[in-house]
Parts: sequence; structure tokens; C-alpha cells
Amino acid sequence: MADNSEKLKSLAQLKKQVESCTLCNLSKTRNLAVFGEGNPCARILFIGEGPGRQEDQTGRPFVGRSGELLTGMIEKGIGVPRSEVFIANIVKCRPTVDYKMEKDRAPDREEVACCSPYLKKQIDIIKPEAIITLGGPSAKFILQTDTGITKLRGKWGDYNGIPVMPTYHPSYILRNGGEKSPLKKDVWSDIKQVMDLLKIPLPG
Ligand code: URA
Repeated sequence: MADNSEKLKSLAQLKKQVESCTLCNLSKTRNLAVFGEGNPCARILFIGEGPGRQEDQTGRPFVGRSGELLTGMIEKGIGVPRSEVFIANIVKCRPTVDYKMEKDRAPDREEVACCSPYLKKQIDIIKPEAIITLGGPSAKFILQTDTGITKLRGKWGDYNGIPVMPTYHPSYILRNGGEKSPLKKDVWSDIKQVMDLLKIPLPG
């Protein structure tokens, strides 16, 4: 089994490829590619959609408002530091509606086709014990289905033998009530299923 240093090395090599990638048009408008970050030996891998404005500026995943919510889910909900899990996206460069880069959009089919081999390699290297997909596009991609997130969430799926738990994207929660959103209890129940599977005790 690959240890931490081997995984670190493989991820560092892959990160270099991502940072110089020009396979799709998103490379033309990106400020920084967002490879993903976390523990190379993480037990849990979170997969989002793609970087937003702040992620594009910093080169780090989930650092904006939805990132704050995700960090809370990890640190208060699961009870581990964010650096213990790994956080990645389907696409590594920010999908925007136009060259002014004012608004985000979901990555299109071609962008996903170009970029997703990087995510697949990340999964191969990290070999997490469970994957939590955040939102519809990442659940659909990982599970290769057209079913919507409301039907998928909370039910186990599978990616090459790795259990997959689809849940809502933090920005969907922010758009639907924020911190007080009733959807938070669904997300908590999804996360709890993962904690039960991995035998992670409830914090506190
Ligand atoms: N939304 C995502 O899906 N990924 C990020 O990294 C940030 C926001």
C-alpha cells in the first residue's frame, strides 16, 4: 500500500500537470488552477463542482462562503480538522459565464470530459474509504447517472468499489435559508451515515 510520502509525491506531480493544463477553454480565463487540498491519506474525499471567484484567486478549493459552511460541516460535524480530509472538484478551473468572469456556472460536458481524468487520478492515488459528493453535477459524474440530487442524496452509491454518499452542495444550502436552512439536517444525516460506516465517533 502506498504510504503518505508516495501519495504526496504522486499528487504533487499531478498538481503540476493541472497547473499547466490547456486542454479546455477554462484555462484561458483562469487566474489559478485549483487542484484540491488535504491529507493524501484522507479517509474521506469531498468532491465539489468547480472553483468560484475566491478559489480562482487563491488556488484553494472551497474558501468562499460555501467553503466556510463546508469547513463547519467537517470540523464541527465530523469533528476532524479540514486538513484531515481531501477536498477536490470535478473541474480545476473556474467556469464563468463570460470573459468578465462575473458569474459562475456549472462546467459543461466538454470541460468535464477534459478535466475529470485528473479527478479520477486523484481518487486512484488517495484511495479514500468514502466519497461525499457535493451537489448534483459531482454526484451525476461520479455515479454516471442523470438522476437529480434530491433523489440521489442520502443513498449510498459506488465508484469503483468506494462507497459514495451524495449530499447537497453548501451553496445550495446558502441559497435556501443559510445557516438556518432546513436542508442542513439532511446534510447532517448524510454525513452521519458516512461516519457510521467509517466508525468515526460523534464529536464531543
Ligand atoms: N464550489 C465548488 O463546487 N467548489 C469550490 O471549490 C468552491 C465552490
